[in-house]
Amino acid sequence: MNRSPAAPSPVRRAVVANLGCKVNQSEMEAVERLLRARGVELVDAYAAADLVVVNTCTVTSIADQKSRQVVRRARRMNPDAQILVTGCSVAIDPESLAVADPMARLYDNDSKGRMMAELAGLLALADGGPMPTLSGVESAGGRTGGRAVEPAVEPSLGRAVELEADEGSVEDDFADRTDSDRTRAFVKIQDGCSFHCTYCIIPRARGSARSVPADEVVAEVRRATAAGHREAVLTGINAGTYDDAGLPLAGLVARILAETPVERIRLSSIEPQHVTGELLDVWAGSGGRCLPHFHIPLQSGDDTILRRMGRHYDTAFYAELVGRVRRAIPGAAVHADVIVGFPGEDEASWERTATLLRELDLAGIHVFRYSARPGTPAARMVGQVDVRTRKRRSAEALALAAEARARFAERHLGRELRVLFERPLPDGRRLGHAESHVLVTVAPSDGGPLTRAIGVVRAESIDPTAPDRIVGRLLSISLPKEPLAESALK
Ligand code: SF4
Repeated sequence: MNRSPAAPSPVRRAVVANLGCKVNQSEMEAVERLLRARGVELVDAYAAADLVVVNTCTVTSIADQKSRQVVRRARRMNPDAQILVTGCSVAIDPESLAVADPMARLYDNDSKGRMMAELAGLLALADGGPMPTLSGVESAGGRTGGRAVEPAVEPSLGRAVELEADEGSVEDDFADRTDSDRTRAFVKIQDGCSFHCTYCIIPRARGSARSVPADEVVAEVRRATAAGHREAVLTGINAGTYDDAGLPLAGLVARILAETPVERIRLSSIEPQHVTGELLDVWAGSGGRCLPHFHIPLQSGDDTILRRMGRHYDTAFYAELVGRVRRAIPGAAVHADVIVGFPGEDEASWERTATLLRELDLAGIHVFRYSARPGTPAARMVGQVDVRTRKRRSAEALALAAEARARFAERHLGRELRVLFERPLPDGRRLGHAESHVLVTVAPSDGGPLTRAIGVVRAESIDPTAPDRIVGRLLSISLPKEPLAESALK
C-alpha cells in the first residue's frame, strides 16, 4: 500500500525524470510547464527536490529495470520527497515499482490526466498549505481498467519492442534527448497502437490507437512557437495512424503549415505503410519547413522474419518506399530500426538483413538486440536465438550503422546547411542538427550564444573525433525572434 511521506512540505524544487520515447518526452514537457508556471524550480539533484516525477518505460526489460532504479535512487537520495511515477512500466508491472518504493504514487497511462490534476492541486499548496491526498496505485493488474494497451515502442519511439537497445544504436532517440530537447518542441499527436507486432509489449501499456484532435495539435505548435521553439517534432506511438475525424497525418501537417509560423517540422517515426503519396506531397511542397528526414522502422531484411514479427510489409515494399521517398525529396535522410536475433533468424536470414541494410544506403540504423519480453507472442516462439549469436549480429549491425552514418555525413561536405543550434560542447564548439538531422559543429562564436539560432553553415570537413559529425563554418545566422522564456527552457 502507498503511504505519504511523514511531513509534506511545500514544493519549491522538482526533478522530472523521463525514460523512453519521445511520446513520454512530450508528456513530461507538459509536466515541466505546469511546474514552471507555478514557480517551481526544476533541478537535477534528487536530494534538492521536494517533488520527483518519473515517467517510466517498459519497451525492454532493461528499460523496466532502469525505471525501477530511478525510483529507488530518488527515494534513497530524498526520503521525504513526494515521488510520482507514471508511464508504461506502471501499466505493465506496478507491483515491482511498488516494491521499489512503497511510498511512491503510481499512475498508469490512463491515469496521467488524473496525475496532472492532482499535481496541480499539490502545487497550489506550494505556499505551505495542507497537502492534498494523492491516490495510490492506479492499476493492480498491469492494465488500466483491464483494457488492452499499446506497446511501447521505441522511441522514435513510437515503435515498440521488447528488445535491448544496443549501446550507441539509438543515439537520436535516447541520447540526444538533452539540451536539444529544449530547443525542439516534442508535440504529441497520437497515442497507443492497434497493431500486434509479436515482439512488442507497448499496445498493452498504451492501449489502442487514438489521435489528438487537430485543433489541439495546432494550438500546441502555436504555443511552442510562441515560447521560442523553432522546430516541432511530431510524435506518436504509431503516428502514421493519425486520423482526426477523417483528417489523416498529411492533412494535419498541412494544417500546421498553414496555421502556425513554425519554421521546421520533423516526424519522430512512421511505419512504412503509412508513408503515403499524399504525405510526401505535403512534405515536398512545404518550402523546406518539413525537414528531409524520415525514421522508418525496417526491423528485418528477411520476409519470413517480418511475417513472424507481425509486420505489415515485406522487404520489396520497404526498398521501393525508400526509393519513393528519395524521388519525392532528393537527399532525404532515411533512418531505419533493425531487430537482430529475432526467433527463427538463422544465418541466411541475418545475411539477407545485412545485405539489405547495405543496399538501402541509409542515413542511420538503430540496432535492437532481441530479448524475449514476457507477455509477447515472440517470447513463446520456437527458434530462439542464443545470446552469443545475438551479440555477434548486433555488433555486425552496429558496424553497418556506423558506416552508414559516416557515409551519409560525408555527403554533406561542400554544401550549405541550415543548422538549428542546441548547445555548446565541452570544448566550446557549438553543436546542432542540420535539416537532415546530421550533427554539425562550428567554432565557438565570439561570445554570442547560438542556442536556438538557425545558422547557415558551410560543411567543410568531418570531425576527427566523430566520423558522423560535420565541422562547418558559420556563414550567417538567424537569431530567435523572441527569447525563449526562462520558464519554457528549464
Ligand atoms: S507498430 Fe508494432 S512495434 Fe510499433 S507500437 Fe505498434 S505493435 Fe509495437
